[in-house]
Amino acid sequence: MTQSTADLQQRLGFDPDALRNRYREERDKRLRDEGNEQYVNMTGDYSHYIDDPYLEEQISRAPLTDTVNVLIVGGGFGGLLAGARLREAGIDGLRIVEKAGDFGGTWYWNRYPGAACDIESYVYLPLLEEVGYMPARKYSTGREILWYSQEIARRYRLYDDVLFQTQVTALTWQEDEGCWLVETNRGDAFRARYVVQSNGPLNRPKLPGIPGIQDYRGHTFHTSRWDYDYTGGSAEGGLNKLADKKVAIIGTGATAVQCVPHLGEGAQHLYVFQRTPSSIDVRNDRDTDQNWWESLQPGWHQARMDNFNILVSGGVQEEDLVKDGWTEIIRNLLFMVKSEDEPDLSPAEIARKMELADFQKMNQIRARVDAIVADPQVADALKPWYRQFCKRPCFHDDYLPTFNRDNVTLVDTGGHGVERITEKGVVANGVEYPVDCIVFSTGFEVGTAYARRCGYETYGVGGQTLSDKWADGMRSYHGMHVNGFPNLFLMGANGQTGFTANYPHALNEQSRHIAYILDQCARGNQRIVEATPQAEEAWVQTIVKLARLNEQFLIDCTPGYYNNEGKPQLRSLQNTNYGAGPVEFYKLLEDWRGEGQMEGLRLA
Ligand code: NDP
Repeated sequence: MTQSTADLQQRLGFDPDALRNRYREERDKRLRDEGNEQYVNMTGDYSHYIDDPYLEEQISRAPLTDTVNVLIVGGGFGGLLAGARLREAGIDGLRIVEKAGDFGGTWYWNRYPGAACDIESYVYLPLLEEVGYMPARKYSTGREILWYSQEIARRYRLYDDVLFQTQVTALTWQEDEGCWLVETNRGDAFRARYVVQSNGPLNRPKLPGIPGIQDYRGHTFHTSRWDYDYTGGSAEGGLNKLADKKVAIIGTGATAVQCVPHLGEGAQHLYVFQRTPSSIDVRNDRDTDQNWWESLQPGWHQARMDNFNILVSGGVQEEDLVKDGWTEIIRNLLFMVKSEDEPDLSPAEIARKMELADFQKMNQIRARVDAIVADPQVADALKPWYRQFCKRPCFHDDYLPTFNRDNVTLVDTGGHGVERITEKGVVANGVEYPVDCIVFSTGFEVGTAYARRCGYETYGVGGQTLSDKWADGMRSYHGMHVNGFPNLFLMGANGQTGFTANYPHALNEQSRHIAYILDQCARGNQRIVEATPQAEEAWVQTIVKLARLNEQFLIDCTPGYYNNEGKPQLRSLQNTNYGAGPVEFYKLLEDWRGEGQMEGLRLA
C-alpha cells in the first residue's frame, strides 16, 4: 500500500479490512448450493401465477398462414423501438407478436402499487423528441410509462400490425424458402423473412422453491401480476381491501422497495421477509419544469442519454446533466480515484481506491438507515453489507420510514431466507407468521436458459436449436447475429452486447443497427444476412477476454442475479456482456455502420 493510500484511509475514518471481512461473512451466509435451482419454473401447478390479470377481454381469431417481411417478438420498448426504427427506414410488412393484451412489456405486467422508474424519465423514455412528449416528472410512474409505450405504438401505427394475446411456440428456419416458420399458441403457422427477438430481460417471474409453497391456503400472487381485486386500490396506492388483512411480502429488491410503503399503509399488519437488504439512496422526485423543457434544443435527448450513459459507465463528462443518485455514485468513485496526486497509479491501485470510495458510499447508505429508522435493531437489519453495484441500487424516500409504522414488522432471516410455507403462513427463524395473503416480490429469471426465458425454441439451419448451439456458452456476433440462424436479430441484454443501467438506451442503439442492416439488405436486394463463423468466433474471443476483468468483483459480491446467484464462475464467460462497456460498444456499432462494408456478415 502506498503512503497516500494509507493517508486516505486515515482521513476516511474507517477500517477497510474490517469492512472487507464483514462483506465476505455476509456473502458466505448467503451462498447456496442450489444457485439458480432454488427457484421453481412457473409451469404446471404454478402456471396460474403468470396468468394475465389485466386482460379486459379474450380475443378470438382465426390462425394465420400468410407471409410477412419482419416478425418482431415482444411489444415492450425493444419491440416498439424496432417497429419505430423500421417504419422510419420505410421497411414494410411488419408483424409484432405479444403475449400480453397490449403494448408496454415490463410496464404492462408490473402495475404493482408504487411502480415507477428510478432512472430519470428524460433519459429513460425513448423517442421523446420524435413523439414530442414531455414527461410529467423527473421520475415517471409505471402508469405514465405504460401510456407512453402505447403512445409510441399509436404514433408509429404499430397497432395495425400486432397480434396480442399470442405466444410464439417455435421459430423454424425454412432453408428451401429462405424464411422463418412462426408457430404460436393460437395455431398460427405463418412465415417471416426476418425475425427480431425482443423477449425482455426480466420477463419470466420466478418463485422461490420454499418447501410447502403449494400447501398455503391463503391468497397469493407475484408482484408482476398484482391482484387489485383482492387488495383494492390502484397503482397509486389506497389498498383499502387490506384493512382487515395480515399480509406477508417475500423479497426486498427494487420492486418491494416501491410497493412496501403502500402495503404498509393499507394492510392491517404487514410482515416484510428479508433475505438481503437493498441499498436505498435518496430519490428526490419533482415536477418537470416547463420553462426548462421549452428551452431544450433539437438533439438534446440523445445528448442527455449519452451523457448519463458515459457517467454511469465510469467515463468523464464536463457536465453531469442528470445529477441524480446514479451519477453521484460514479462521480464520487471517480473523484476519489482522480483527486490523488498520483499520475502513475497501477490498475490494482485504482481498483483499491475504487473500493475505498465504494466503502465510503455504502457507509453513507448505512448512515441514512440509522437516521431514518427509529428502532436501532430494525435499522441494523436494514443495512446492506456489500459493494454498491453487487445488486441494483434503489432510490426511494418512503421505504425506510415504513419500518417506523406500528403495523409493519421486518422479519430479517439473517441471509437464510424463508424456511417454509405452511397452510396458514410463513415460517422464518423457526417462527410461524399466520397471514391472509403472501405477495411474492421475488423477481425474474435471469440466469436460466435463453429458450426457457423466451418460452419457445428457435430451430436454425439443419434443425439445430439455439439451446444446442449455446450449450457451452453463448455464441454471437455483436450479441445480435448467430451463425446458423440467418435473418435472426437478437435484442436486449442476453449477453455479448453493451449493457447499460438505462436499458431502453441499449434497445434504441440495437434497433437503429437492425434498421440500418435491413435497409442495406433491401437496397442491395439481399435476402439472407447471417454472421460468418469467423466473425462470430472473433467476437466470442473478445467477450471472453474482456469478461475476465470483472470476474473477481462478481465473485466477492453477495449472491443475486448480477452474479449468477453467487456462482459467477459457473456461468460461461461467453454469456457476459461486452466488458469494455456500453459507450465503446455503441461507438463500435456506429463505426461499423460508417464503414458500410457489413463486415462479418454473409449476404446472399
Ligand atoms: P430482485 O431479483 O431484485 O429481488 C428478489 C428478492 O427476493 C430479493 O430480495 C431476494 O433476496 C428475495 N428472495 C428470493 N428468494 C427468497 C427466499 N427464499 N426468501 C426470502 N427472500 C427471497 O427482483 P425485483 O422484482 O425486486 O427487481 C428485479 C429488477 O427489476 C431490478 O433489479 C431492476 O432491474 C428492475 N426494477 C426496476 C425498477 C426501476 O425503477 N427502474 C423498479 C423495480 C424493479 P436476495 O437478495 O437475498 O436474493
